[in-house]
Amino acid sequence: MSTIKLKNADVVLPDRTVRRNSIAVDGGRIVSVGETAEDASFERVLRLDGCTVFPGFVDVHNHGAAGVDVNDADADGLLRVAEYLASCGVTAWMPTLVPDSDDNYRRIIGEIDRLMELQAGKPVAQAVGVHYEGVFANEKMCGALRPEFFKKFDGHQLSELPRLRNGVHMTTFAPEVEGGVALAAELTKQGWIASIGHTQADTAMLDAAFAAGARHMTHFFNAMTGVHHRDVGVAGWGLTNKGVTFDIIADGVHVVPRMLELACRAKTPEKVSLISDSVAPTGMGDGEFELWGETIRVVNGRTQNERGSIAGSVSTMLDGVRMMRSVGFTDGEVAAMASTNPARLLGIDGLTGSIEAGKFADLVVIDGTGNVTMTIVRGQLAAK
Ligand SMILES: [Zn+2]
Repeated sequence: MSTIKLKNADVVLPDRTVRRNSIAVDGGRIVSVGETAEDASFERVLRLDGCTVFPGFVDVHNHGAAGVDVNDADADGLLRVAEYLASCGVTAWMPTLVPDSDDNYRRIIGEIDRLMELQAGKPVAQAVGVHYEGVFANEKMCGALRPEFFKKFDGHQLSELPRLRNGVHMTTFAPEVEGGVALAAELTKQGWIASIGHTQADTAMLDAAFAAGARHMTHFFNAMTGVHHRDVGVAGWGLTNKGVTFDIIADGVHVVPRMLELACRAKTPEKVSLISDSVAPTGMGDGEFELWGETIRVVNGRTQNERGSIAGSVSTMLDGVRMMRSVGFTDGEVAAMASTNPARLLGIDGLTGSIEAGKFADLVVIDGTGNVTMTIVRGQLAAK
């Protein structure tokens, strides 16, 4: 583990962005920001004139990339996703599963366990847990999820979802499925992140889920009822409930740019996380791909399945960051949404998600044109 000094960069700190500043890294951690030792005392000095250093991005909703589908992958495939994600500035991620058979769930959880061993000490996006998108979702709001694998909850089914040996467990659920509110309570009791989504629950049901411990919402606006001035819908409930946070796909396709601006301003950037919701074809260009038992077509950066639904995105966290900058969010606000808030959601904000002495040196350097020039994961440079 080497000592590195990043110098002459604009550095996005939790409370401000400082121009032409330095960061000192030692043993995989940030040791100081601003006041750093002489260049000669570092093994490596990186001059970053004209660049901005953000905390590494944290993606809590990712189905794969670079041709690899998380549901279908083995540990080596997942490692390729993790390499690709690091090249786009992601330093931590949650492999995200669409509803599947119990057998395949068991298999893939074993592969994520193995990934967690493989990734140790490598400069790739670090998988920190698993996100089950469903199986407790509303069939009418299924989007690209396969309803044949959906479950109801009568007190037992949570134990049917296999667990990782270590890591964060998150699930997206609809409060109105049978037993949904009891499920929210059980998830919370067992330390899961209970995230409301794929839902058309009414306000009373959402309030009940909130009271039971659900504090987050999945891909805001997508696969939920929208805002109407005589019916607030799931989205209006999420915007007005101050205790709930949400994540949102900032690709400009799932939610148009003006609506991203409107929703994230209304919610405030302190309560929003950006997600990619990316799927296997991400990074592969346009074409036809087999995914989740269907043919997915990617045309001009949009996915569509045979039922006409959008089937996840082919965007990256970097695309989301660019989008949010383009609609007027400051770098500090963008860092909160891309890094700090998702790290807090996952409970790993003591280790990563902001540029502060003592945290992991998880950093992404963006040049003046908005491209990633380098990603640093726990003090090591990721491959470009
Ligand atoms: Zn998804």
